[in-house]
Amino acid sequence: MKATIIGGGIIGLSSAWFLAEDGWEVTVLEKGDLSDNCSFGNMGYLSPSHFVPLAQPGVVSKGIWWMFDMKSPFYVRPSLSPDLIRWGLKFVMASTHAHVERSARPLTELLLFSKELTAEWQRSGRMSFDYTDHGCVMYYQTVAYEKEERENARKAVDLGLQVEVLDREQAQVLEPDMRPDVRGGVLFKDDAHIHPNSLMRQLPALLEQRGVRIIRNAEVTGFSKEKKTIQTVHYQTDAGEQHISGSDLVVLAAGSWSPQVARMAGERIALMPGKGYSMTFDTDRQRMRLPGILLEAKVALTPWQKQLRIGSTMEIGAINDRILFPRVQGILEAVPRFLPGMMDDPAFRQLADLTSLQQHLREKVWFGFRPVSADGMPYIGFAPKTNNLMIATGHAMLGLSLGAGTGKLVAEMAAGKETSVGVERFRCER
Ligand SMILES: Cc1cc2nc3c(=O)[nH]c(=O)nc-3n(C[C@H](O)[C@H](O)[C@H](O)COP(=O)(O)OP(=O)(O)OC[C@H]3O[C@@H](n4cnc5c(N)ncnc54)[C@H](O)[C@@H]3O)c2cc1C
Repeated sequence: MKATIIGGGIIGLSSAWFLAEDGWEVTVLEKGDLSDNCSFGNMGYLSPSHFVPLAQPGVVSKGIWWMFDMKSPFYVRPSLSPDLIRWGLKFVMASTHAHVERSARPLTELLLFSKELTAEWQRSGRMSFDYTDHGCVMYYQTVAYEKEERENARKAVDLGLQVEVLDREQAQVLEPDMRPDVRGGVLFKDDAHIHPNSLMRQLPALLEQRGVRIIRNAEVTGFSKEKKTIQTVHYQTDAGEQHISGSDLVVLAAGSWSPQVARMAGERIALMPGKGYSMTFDTDRQRMRLPGILLEAKVALTPWQKQLRIGSTMEIGAINDRILFPRVQGILEAVPRFLPGMMDDPAFRQLADLTSLQQHLREKVWFGFRPVSADGMPYIGFAPKTNNLMIATGHAMLGLSLGAGTGKLVAEMAAGKETSVGVERFRCER
């Protein structure tokens, strides 16, 4: 059985992994060279704590408020694009308590399942990507965020997750070098983190060893369909127009580009790119023990042995390579407000030197486009109008967390097997 996968991000490569494991003859078509995409420079979190989808009550009003602040972590580029308007309406309609209630358990199940599969990759000894499962702390400075996060902690316990609520002193004991200036925090003990760049660098070589054919610099440009079935996938390379015929399965895992590719097959996906930034620096001595999210600022930090990554922002809009300096500035200013000890790190001080940062913005700031579905839930399943097309995208802030699990579900559904976790909430027809 032949499978063609469109996109070599974490979702496409994980799908290739599990399909190849089940004996499929797999080809991955990737328009880039696999040296970078959204799956590389992200924060590396595997986050069962993130069981609340992005579309949730209160997010719209907060978003509107933030749109008037150039340093804010959330921004929707105003546009009359019908795609954005359709996405926006669906997003607003999905931002309800009922949606959050219905989504939390299926999301948690997939998050835990996927984390375990990722841990197995590391345990197998075939890959090494700094898998660490010491948890992640959500820090808050205000009463409002404390209330919200304690409520999340309560729901997490209901879902079977382990949490510990920390007061200011306990947060300071946990991160003595950071001297957190916070009201407190919640430690989500089931969270883990990895070095995503390492995983993404190793996966292609291992897939090729397993017999997966990866064609780099190959952009899918169209499909030939007959009787609701894709007969041929057309793609463009430096050598000109090429095609693959006779795929039993085509997996669309093109991240933020998925709506355009879906349209070529006559399918529609409500999804927008959500640009985010990260900055990574080498540190002489790791002063931060655990990954942490600064809630009011929506800034995340990930410590590895000798590196620290800081990331944030969600700019919903077009795919472009503009870096908005005030937002980067907003991220860097937030860090010492919460974690004053960070200023003791000479590498952070150097990064936060705004004059130098502005001069070297492109070298210092990475950006990627999260594929943000209109209801904050991934699409995993067969396309409504095309028999042999499976859609696996829309993972928004959770692509790495859900990557391995999504790949496994794709393989299970392709084989017509019962899935390891429920997939009803991820159906493409919703
Ligand atoms: C700042 C930031 C921090 C994040 N932190 C985390 C985190 O800590 N944990 C987490 O779980 N998630 C995180 N995310 C989200 C996560 O990175 C994404 O959800 C995930 O990378 C999406 O993976 P993907 O495979 O769907 O898309 P991508 O990684 O974007 O891959 C899609 C691929 O498809 C290719 N493609 C597109 N069109 C075509 C075409 N026509 N033909 C062939 N190839 C095509 C693209 O070139 C690309 O390589 C973060 C994101 C950002 C921006």
